[in-house]
Amino acid sequence: MELRSLIRDIHNFPKEGVVFKDITLLLQNPDALKKTTVALLNLLEGNDIDKVVGMESRGFIFGPLLADKLNAGFVPIRKPGKLPAETISETYELEYGTDTLEIHLDAIQKGDRVLIHDDVLATGGTAKAACKLVEKLGGEIVQCNFLIELAFLNGKEKINEYSVQSLITY
Ligand code: AMP
Repeated sequence: MELRSLIRDIHNFPKEGVVFKDITLLLQNPDALKKTTVALLNLLEGNDIDKVVGMESRGFIFGPLLADKLNAGFVPIRKPGKLPAETISETYELEYGTDTLEIHLDAIQKGDRVLIHDDVLATGGTAKAACKLVEKLGGEIVQCNFLIELAFLNGKEKINEYSVQSLITY
């Protein structure tokens, strides 16, 4: 079964002009769910990962599944005001305005080997901010991996100092 056939385009969501890549059909299919997790793991060269870091909110789906298989911990990166303990934050530019992401101060130990995961790499702003947060805490980024890369938005260039891998490219 082709994973690509289970990703559907939703036009003008969440706003006019955006083509949203909806992965919910893939998630509800048991074989596709397994196949995606295995394929994401196969993007890694070794499996020496201490923490998988996932971005709110769809990085929270495969992030913990990958962490479980890698015998690693899972760390959420969230929008402002959602994490309860002490955090550090990173603000990044959007087309219009800025956005901020937060991580718990004690989520990463110095020298931790980190896999960054999200469902979609679009402009790369989110991934770049996530990488900066992890590095501020002393983590080493082994790879950034994504289920989907929207290559026409050139997000890969924004994080070109890291190893970047995606399962499906549009
Ligand atoms: P960016 O910072 O532009 O790379 O955007 C990445 C974040 O926005 C990820 O957390 C994605 O889940 C979400 N995202 C951006 N564009 C799309 C899209 N076309 N379809 C689904 N999610 C998207």
